[in-house]
Amino acid sequence: MSTVLDTALLPTYPATKVTFVEGDGVWLTDDAGRRYLDFAGGIAVVGLGHRHPAPLAAAHAQLDKLWHASNLFGTEPARALAQRLSDRFGGAQVFFCNSGTEANEAALKYARKATGKPGVIALEQSFHGRTMGALSVTGQPAKRAAFEPLVPGARFAQPNDVESLLAAASDDVGLVLLEPILGEGGVIPLEPGFVAAAAALADRLGALLAFDEVQTGVGRTGTFFAFEQLGIRPQLVTLAKALANGLPIGCLLVADDALGAFVPGDHGSTFGGNPVSCAAGIAVCDTIDDELLMSVRANGERLLAGLATLPGVVDTRGAGHLVGAELSGPAQPLLDAALDAGLVCLTSGANVLRLAPPLVAQPEDVERALEILTEAAAR
Ligand SMILES: *Cc1c(COP(=O)(O)O)cnc(C)c1O
Repeated sequence: MSTVLDTALLPTYPATKVTFVEGDGVWLTDDAGRRYLDFAGGIAVVGLGHRHPAPLAAAHAQLDKLWHASNLFGTEPARALAQRLSDRFGGAQVFFCNSGTEANEAALKYARKATGKPGVIALEQSFHGRTMGALSVTGQPAKRAAFEPLVPGARFAQPNDVESLLAAASDDVGLVLLEPILGEGGVIPLEPGFVAAAAALADRLGALLAFDEVQTGVGRTGTFFAFEQLGIRPQLVTLAKALANGLPIGCLLVADDALGAFVPGDHGSTFGGNPVSCAAGIAVCDTIDDELLMSVRANGERLLAGLATLPGVVDTRGAGHLVGAELSGPAQPLLDAALDAGLVCLTSGANVLRLAPPLVAQPEDVERALEILTEAAAR
């Protein structure tokens, strides 16, 4: 493996050591023909695994029918996917866009229009995206610093610290924005008591409660929405990553009890609701059943137990197929050693190894990943 210099690409990502040319289920193949077990899933995107037959067939069929008509006209896949998401949520309307950051931009605008208030309470270490609005409410100063001034009004509380949450309260807050598990900030699950306090605070302030489920949603934590495990139903939910199994898509769900703020002309997206992406999204929703979710929860328990026995691991956190192992030092060397041994992993912050395998990963894949990590950690 030698580092490839991507000279015609702006260097917004570190130089790559591997070029993948093919995927199949939980496996990736590089340009030298070497196979890797994929426990990154394209950063929690390829939820059903590479080339899963259901979204593959749905996208192929839609490619042969209609690619784009614009939102000035109706298309069947967008309507049908919206209905499925509404059913899963229990009554909502959906705005479609193309990415997680755009979904959060839609949530920011929706809350502003609905409440007339510019303030947002978000969490330290959170991640909501790279565009100016989403970046403004991302609790990672290093990602924000070079791009100030950002959108004003963001207030940050510490995850799972009710006192700091209450200290962030202000009458001008129109949105409380939480990730059920902070996926980029160290795999930090929010405690039900903290989320209940946030919901109560939002209610008291006349603010909307939004869950950014861009990473945790679409089955990743063992329920379709992660919030189902927290006992709180938000007014807004954003989804993206796994919704179309790798085709670009994002969306904002607005609960029935919070509808009415957006009217024609308030928001839009040329590519939003793309028929091919939505067709794949429908197939994804229809494939995520109770059996698959049960297997995700069981694999998650096994992963957490296995990771806890690795040398250098000081804490394990997460749920289902979104788990993290905090190490006593940087996680990158373990990540590199695992990649050398044929296992693709992620980090989440400097010291946390993150695993986000496809939901279809089997118990034997989990055992293989743990074996590789055990050997890599001993090196
Ligand atoms: C990845 C992610 C985003 C940003 O999604 P993009 O598609 O990269 O814009 C936002 N929020 C969370 C929680 C994410 O994990």
